[in-house]
Amino acid sequence: MQRREFLATGSAASLALLSSCASKEATEGTVQQGPLQAAAGVDIAARVNQYASVKLEADASSLRADEKQLIRLLVEVARMMDDLFWRQAYGDKQALLARASTPELRRFLEINYGPWDRLDGNKPFVDGIGPKPAGANFYPSDLTKQEFETAAGASAEAAAALKGQYTVVRRDGASLRAVPYSQEYGDLLKPAAARLREAAKLAADPGLANYLNLRAAAFETDNYQPSDLAWLDMKTNGIDFVAGPIEDYEDALFGYKTAFEAYVLIKDKEWSQRLRKYAAMLPGLQRGLPVPEAYKMETPGSDSELNAYDVVYYAGDCNAGSKTIAINLPNDEEVQLKKGTRRLQLKNAMRAKFQQILVPIASQLIAEDQRKHVTFDAFFSNVMFHEVAHGLGIKNTLNGKGTVRDALKERYSALEEGKADILGLYMVSELLKQGELGGADLMDYYTTFLAGIFRSVRFGAASAHGIANTLRFNFFAEMGAFSFDAATKTYRVVPEKMSAAVAALSEKILRLQGDGDYAGTVQFVNQMGSIPPALQSDLDRVSAAGIPIDVVFDQGTAWLG
Ligand code: ZN
Repeated sequence: MQRREFLATGSAASLALLSSCASKEATEGTVQQGPLQAAAGVDIAARVNQYASVKLEADASSLRADEKQLIRLLVEVARMMDDLFWRQAYGDKQALLARASTPELRRFLEINYGPWDRLDGNKPFVDGIGPKPAGANFYPSDLTKQEFETAAGASAEAAAALKGQYTVVRRDGASLRAVPYSQEYGDLLKPAAARLREAAKLAADPGLANYLNLRAAAFETDNYQPSDLAWLDMKTNGIDFVAGPIEDYEDALFGYKTAFEAYVLIKDKEWSQRLRKYAAMLPGLQRGLPVPEAYKMETPGSDSELNAYDVVYYAGDCNAGSKTIAINLPNDEEVQLKKGTRRLQLKNAMRAKFQQILVPIASQLIAEDQRKHVTFDAFFSNVMFHEVAHGLGIKNTLNGKGTVRDALKERYSALEEGKADILGLYMVSELLKQGELGGADLMDYYTTFLAGIFRSVRFGAASAHGIANTLRFNFFAEMGAFSFDAATKTYRVVPEKMSAAVAALSEKILRLQGDGDYAGTVQFVNQMGSIPPALQSDLDRVSAAGIPIDVVFDQGTAWLG
């Protein structure tokens, strides 16, 4: 599971009023012709500037000629994943981009992989385009949940096909039909598979070669499990590659369908060494979780690995809107129970966000004398332990409701991200107590964590992370874990209340998951999932100060020479 990141702005209500009259004619469907114009009240240049541009590259002098060629092939495959994500999120990329009336508009369409602003609750930012379908382009745009459930209820086979994570749903006359990705996207998946096999021949590392060959087969068969297992067996490779249909956030209708993405990565061996010891501590940390025994009975895979990387290419889902800074894969629960997961900390992307966004936010919203506690080491650790914490807790409900993911449906992602955040912080404090983090100061972690909430709350209600952070802000407020000073308009960590708040929220989430409590989760989100007006005005101050919300990458293969 990635760290996904988006934002909502405060001007939604007034915009909606304006557009509700203007867009009546367009509600029948999307206008397909003519130049696109920015929607009323939308300043496209300002929205592009919400993203700070960051160059992605690595030290090419340490790479051999065959490695450079391998990276070029992987970037080619990544670009195909990018085109596939466009189809899933929107449809015809070239037709849409050709209608952009200005370079800024074209750029903003590219950043969002479509005409809906991912940092603004997916609202359309051009005229003549209706709201984004909840099921993106995975399902017919007019599909209702009722119609889908009826069709899926016809037989076990129908349910498996229609709910499959590697199928799209299309209309076939009056009925619904599931089309496997290998078929729907075969025109790009077949050449992608061929490139992967070429790349496998160049790979000096046998583990990487094996994975690339099995991934090629997966593109053709929709059976990703063998390649997921092979990816977990890779230990010694310096170049890494993540590609395929992976996360389910883009399917906001049901959370069944996976979206294409890719990362081309170069391992940072020195930092990886520093991270190695934490993976070994997972089983002990699981036993120490602040919940009754039943909620921590599963044993996290002992084969889990934690490494640091520099990313040299992002494509598709992970590059849409806000950018991922850590990865924990694979998502397949069967594979996780058998072999654990691999956690990839994307160090160069993290540092970019820390410097461009977190530090400026802290200088606005954190009490002046606590700002010294906002450090890159703490930020890096909080993100790292977030990823580790995805492996804690349980994957299956305690009461026969199946996996936690199935039981909590479209609410699963937000709760799971919230779990990872809070258990990550819980783990940091445990390890500090055990003396495992050297001379680090707990206040660094708490203060950086609080500043991180402000950063992530900005991602808004269209993002699992945005919701998770809003829930946590409200929960912490209720528990008194921070205070607000009206004179300086800054927030202050209250350390003596913080640890109780962390334990209480950990238990709340682990129980909802273990009980597969869908209704309870909906209630929790309804109760605590909205941004209170006071916080919104603080976020508006941060935006008015011109602090970017996220980064956008200047990337390619030029750095390879
Ligand atoms: Zn996560």
